[in-house]
Amino acid sequence: MKKIKMITPLVEMDGDEMTRVIWKLIKEILIEPFVELKTEYYDLGLKNRDLTDDKVTLDSALATLKYGVAVKCATITPNAQRMEEYSLKKMYKSPNGTIRAALDGTVFRAPILVDGITPYIPTWTSPIVIARHAYGDIYKAVDVKAGKGKAELVYTDANGNEKRETVFDFGADGVLMAMHNTDKSIESFARSCFNYALDMKLPLWFSTKDTISKVYDGNFKQIFQKLYDEEYKEKFAAAGIDYMYTLIDDAVARIVRSSGGIVWACKNYDGDVMSDMVATAYGSLAMMTSVLVSPSGVYEYEAAHGTVTRHYYKFLKGEETSTNPVATIFAWTGALKKRGELDNNSPLIFFAKRLEKATLDTISCGEMTGDLVSMFKKDGVTPKKLSTKDFLLAIAKRI
Ligand code: NAP
Ligand code: MG
Repeated sequence: MKKIKMITPLVEMDGDEMTRVIWKLIKEILIEPFVELKTEYYDLGLKNRDLTDDKVTLDSALATLKYGVAVKCATITPNAQRMEEYSLKKMYKSPNGTIRAALDGTVFRAPILVDGITPYIPTWTSPIVIARHAYGDIYKAVDVKAGKGKAELVYTDANGNEKRETVFDFGADGVLMAMHNTDKSIESFARSCFNYALDMKLPLWFSTKDTISKVYDGNFKQIFQKLYDEEYKEKFAAAGIDYMYTLIDDAVARIVRSSGGIVWACKNYDGDVMSDMVATAYGSLAMMTSVLVSPSGVYEYEAAHGTVTRHYYKFLKGEETSTNPVATIFAWTGALKKRGELDNNSPLIFFAKRLEKATLDTISCGEMTGDLVSMFKKDGVTPKKLSTKDFLLAIAKRI
């Protein structure tokens, strides 16, 4: 068979533990037999990050800015125990944090739906994609304990002019917090959301609590609306989608009643909470993809889960594991599809879609990894648990 050719390379970011094992198998079994894979390879495995003083992570992010599309394997974020396990020179920062900072992006998390696995909210028949703003608010807040006394918010501008507001006159003990965000970060977030919605041809919702937080959340609302009116309104109309702003509590009520098929842009804290709720309701972290989209239109695809350490330790002991590779497969297909679109390479897009369909068909016909077996319910189909490798081989047969 003639293999599909690629034009521009993908930036490939390898990772750690069980997902590193799965990464290699996916390439060997599902991609390389069909595609003349062209990648610029960066080894973000913890050993190599240590060897390069983490320079490799930044290099891979810069390569992503250069080429436009990356696919990333899950990586270990070191803690004290990992420092010892890998004899690290220092406790490196999370690679995702480094990459996000370099790309200035927003993370979109989307569930992968399969016939046979019903979400806890059965009317959610299409994906709900959560777009979480990843800068500021309570994650960069300053908070202090207060006693009897007066709390004030003071802002001094560059010319030394002061704005002073009384927060509260404490008559007794209490707590106090100040937080911030920047127009630049909010605008980047908004732009990423509008671009992603256009790309996926899905309507966009944005929610805050601007009736209560008139200045702070009001600023978010205004920035989104201004950008929409000035740059996106016509593009949205042409794509047949719309943008809606609503209050966060109204959005929650509407989401539960919806059938999905929406991008829901959330402020940092709302996105933290809502993405866990949505992921759980759809069934499993192993069926959730994640893509980082920069405001300049650069894409980095990955699985939403980690390196699945517990399974890796079993694998090292020679035991067979049944780790779910679906989110990692979809990270690859997402990246291949996007590369195909940017390069006008329709055979590559066709292949990526075919691989996704083969993956979903394999599961809906009853062959799956252990984590899905208990969730699977379909008349006339008895789910069968396969090892990771046998599951990949079953998919390959269907391609
Ligand atoms: P995890 O790797 O997501 O795994 C937690 C548990 O979830 C697993 O033990 C497993 O449950 C289940 N699970 C997750 N993915 C699965 C899959 N594909 N197939 C089957 N089961 C799956 O989280 P963690 O154990 O907390 O973190 C491990 C390492 O990953 C850490 O070093 C962390 O820093 C890193 N991490 C990286 C990223 C990233 O790169 N994006 C994200 C999160 C965590 P059972 O054991 O019950 O089977
Ligand atoms: Mg969370």
